[in-house]
Amino acid sequence: MTVTPVVIRMHADDNVAIVADDGGLPAGTALPGGPVLREKLPQAHKVALFDIAAGAPVVRYGVVIGHALDHIAAGRWVHERLLAMPPARTLDDLPMATIGAQAAPLPPLDGYSFQGYRNADGSVGTRNLLAITQTVQCVAGVVEVALERIRRELLPKYPNVDGVVALEHGYGCGVAIDAPGAEIPIRTLRHLSRNPNFGGEVMVVSLGCEKLQPERLLPPGSIPIAGGAAGGEADALDVVRLQDEAHVGFGAMVDAILRQAETHLQRLDARRRETVPASELVVGVQCGGSDAFSGVTANPAVGFCTDLLVRAGARVLFSETTEVRDGIAQLTARAATPEVAQALRREMAWYDDYLRRGGVDRSANTTPGNKAGGLSNIVEKAMGSIVKSGSAPISHVLAPGERLDPRGPRGLVYAATPASDFICGTLQTAAGMNLHVFTTGRGTPYGLAAVPVVKVATRSALARRWHDLMDLDAGPIAEGRATVEDVGWQLFRLLLDTASGRRTWAEHWRLHNALTLFNPAPVT
Ligand code: CA
Repeated sequence: MTVTPVVIRMHADDNVAIVADDGGLPAGTALPGGPVLREKLPQAHKVALFDIAAGAPVVRYGVVIGHALDHIAAGRWVHERLLAMPPARTLDDLPMATIGAQAAPLPPLDGYSFQGYRNADGSVGTRNLLAITQTVQCVAGVVEVALERIRRELLPKYPNVDGVVALEHGYGCGVAIDAPGAEIPIRTLRHLSRNPNFGGEVMVVSLGCEKLQPERLLPPGSIPIAGGAAGGEADALDVVRLQDEAHVGFGAMVDAILRQAETHLQRLDARRRETVPASELVVGVQCGGSDAFSGVTANPAVGFCTDLLVRAGARVLFSETTEVRDGIAQLTARAATPEVAQALRREMAWYDDYLRRGGVDRSANTTPGNKAGGLSNIVEKAMGSIVKSGSAPISHVLAPGERLDPRGPRGLVYAATPASDFICGTLQTAAGMNLHVFTTGRGTPYGLAAVPVVKVATRSALARRWHDLMDLDAGPIAEGRATVEDVGWQLFRLLLDTASGRRTWAEHWRLHNALTLFNPAPVT
């Protein structure tokens, strides 16, 4: 069998490149214009293009990803055991808005639209879902039974409603609810119930004795009450409280939830999609199960698409603090204003402190799968992750659990979240995202109940093997069969179709992961 060796070098300063060939390359392979491989290299792993002296920098993406622990001869496999990770850059003397404030705005991209659901608060939904907000985990079992009955008995009567979603979580009681960090899970829950895909309809199921009382979760004025509650009071919150004496037995509780759900379903069913400009998209981007191709194929294509979306006036959220921490100087430089740069610095400092209190640092991020996929450490992973944010100036920063003002300014937003797929997805949903893009190299069947997730494969081998899970294949970029721009445009068009109602594979199979709150505060 003959193989055509293909290696990918990201930057002219790089002294390593990654092997693109399916199945890797055998020892003795002569690389085009480069050394002969001294050992077998797996796909996506790094080869030394030149001799690297002990202690010398190893450079990928034009960035020092580590220093050689020993002499590395040209043609050898450069893996994490040969690299010492550089220390994290300090947060002092960062460039503040040096590029972003000077940059000419990206040229506008007009004429793109999708079919969405307009909401009273100015946001636009891409799906028409009934959400059931829960104040505490204690009610989750009862809501689950009610949900089954809603699906079976009510949804067939309301064909314009796409589904019903339980906002289930582990919070609400048994927690130090007045601790400073508790504001994060509480505002996350508050903002989750206001996601644009829920049409402004809020119904709450409460136990009764929990710490997170409905009035604390959703204080008066925090949500618009669509159509008013059943009693006619325009500002009354719609709550079923399981401990109310009116509920005699389990069946009565479930019946009460169904009655309440029907009021909201009637209003949701009357809604119709209408043509709205692409500027109404709020797209959250993240990656999970990354490999060394993530930063070569899928993430650069997402970055190109991010620029298209920003040019179309949309908002794009990028996140994952531990995966951008090593690129913080790039981000503060790209901030649109010094205030935005300060906000970025504030979020990084908060997270450094959070990790320090837990006795770890950013290097706790990388997984065995990342390393098997060729990513040696968090610096290399971060450089591949950050490209999802494209090239636009960063116009806004959200702390974890904060929500975008639906009528606020457009552009690229840094939404600070952990890199954990489920926590990041939950926090981006709370921030108001109406569409999600997820890139993966190792492969994960990730999905969300509230927001469509478009999954992009970094390698064609994964896209072939998971043909009914991955929505787009960015692998042709590595094989020279497509450019980053080609796949970026493909993704942009797929996003508009998905926003208009085209189902993703995760929606087709009804795959979704649990909402997972970020709670940095103590439990009791
Ligand atoms: Ca992630």
